Amino acid sequence: MSVFSQYNFANEKALVRVDFNVPLNDQFQITDDTRMTAAIPTIKKILADGGSVILMSHLGRPKDGPADKYSLKHLVPHLYQLLNKPSGSAGSVAEPVNVLFANDCVGEQAYMTAGMLRPGEVLLLENLRFYKEEEKGDKAFAQKLAKLGTVYVNDAFGTAHRAHASTAVIAQFFPKGKKMFGLLMEAEVASAEKVLHQSQKPFVAIIGGAKVSDKILIIENLLEKATDIIIGGGMAYTFMKAEGGKIGNSLCEDDRLQMALDLLKKAEAKGVSIHLPSDSIIADKFDANANDSTAPSNNIPDGWMGLDIGENACEQFTNVIHKSRTILWNGPMGVFEMKKFQRGTKSVAKAIAEATAKGAFSLVGGGDSVSAVNQFGYADKVSYISTGGGAMLEYFEGKVLPGIAAINE
Ligand code: AMP
Repeated sequence: MSVFSQYNFANEKALVRVDFNVPLNDQFQITDDTRMTAAIPTIKKILADGGSVILMSHLGRPKDGPADKYSLKHLVPHLYQLLNKPSGSAGSVAEPVNVLFANDCVGEQAYMTAGMLRPGEVLLLENLRFYKEEEKGDKAFAQKLAKLGTVYVNDAFGTAHRAHASTAVIAQFFPKGKKMFGLLMEAEVASAEKVLHQSQKPFVAIIGGAKVSDKILIIENLLEKATDIIIGGGMAYTFMKAEGGKIGNSLCEDDRLQMALDLLKKAEAKGVSIHLPSDSIIADKFDANANDSTAPSNNIPDGWMGLDIGENACEQFTNVIHKSRTILWNGPMGVFEMKKFQRGTKSVAKAIAEATAKGAFSLVGGGDSVSAVNQFGYADKVSYISTGGGAMLEYFEGKVLPGIAAINE
């Protein structure tokens, strides 16, 4: 494996797998460009070395081949802007950077344009998922893609948990030394490693969101690593009910009650403290304008449901977070999309920012927690924000991510 920052890309055609799977509105305007901006340093480094860049990505979930709605051509103007925006740290790229587009990711036009690409130029290929072979991890398709570049760079952490043609299978067609992670992927892997394998104790994992069943594997794996686990959000009520509490109409997975009890037992045996919210903000319906009140989380009246952690729970969780040296956060504490029920998520974000300011290492991942830190203004006050929701979850479940393994092998 080569190290990206030490590699000289002069005269190379770098085939870079990025995650440009950005949300678009119905006028094809990008409503959140985080994933694109995250890949810019990698692209600029290659250009600054005197290489050219061939970008490949997926966008959305096209079902039956090419569809205008999912065309990456909609991203070209914004990519041009991002690459030509002056930035201090990324080396001196001769401006303007030319951005070309190939309306197929393989085939004659793609090969010709890639072949004629000059140092300093960028070529964006059409959506990889217009070919079913991409998601199937088809070897012949991966080989066709590989022919486009002289060196392969994987900078798509968001799809690192998929064994797709462009994210994993392709790596075998590049010799050792000609395949590597990009800067984003390097940073993602380094911060996840730091939490998973070099965490300073106390280490708190804050897990929230709707369903226990989605987070069971991560909690189990973290029992081996963390000293404290905070459980908030809708999933907390399955634990409450399992322990004999009354939860009214709160979210509950009745088929997971035994599993929740087993988890609590395992945690006790391992000496890991599990923190459940002592109280909840309750509502008489699932609605932004519902009537609300506060109740102990294990004694919610019939007809009411817990939609956020309560004031005491905010304090309880804040105290745990403040004493921690390593913090991992995945999943909101309540229905933070509704103003009335966002206080718990906000207070956790605030506590993480405060602990980080005092020297803790904090990693935030998963779509909702990331939007929460952005929305509440804490994005630059945590140590690292992961761009890969599903990939991060699987990483912390202890799985080997094919996109990482393919480069490391
Ligand atoms: P997840 O995708 O599993 O991380 O869940 C995120 C979703 O869980 C968000 O849309 C939240 O609104 C929702 N959520 C969090 N807490 C609750 C709760 N107490 N009741 C219902 N939904 C919740």
